[in-house]
Amino acid sequence: MFAIVRNWKTPANRLLAAASRGRPQGLMRGSWIADLAALGKAITLCGQCMPRWDARKNGYEQRNVTPNHRLAVGECDGCAATHVTCAMYLPKEKR
Ligand SMILES: [Zn+2]
Repeated sequence: MFAIVRNWKTPANRLLAAASRGRPQGLMRGSWIADLAALGKAITLCGQCMPRWDARKNGYEQRNVTPNHRLAVGECDGCAATHVTCAMYLPKEKR
């Protein structure tokens, strides 16, 4: 299985992206990831942050970004590094 990549560049989604400012300054990184996990949102983590977060314990699993790509270049939710190779985690599907 792989994640469905939607067209995020619709006007409505661009407004949503502008409204969402990401992790607030001063909030600890672990708290930010816990907030994302509580809301069931996608979490991207770089290679250094990956071992520090137990995805299975939080009901998450690593998913392919596209059918043939396991990693993507993006912003890490753990250390806020930009343009790093990240793995994507999504809530585990209930089967
Ligand atoms: Zn990181």
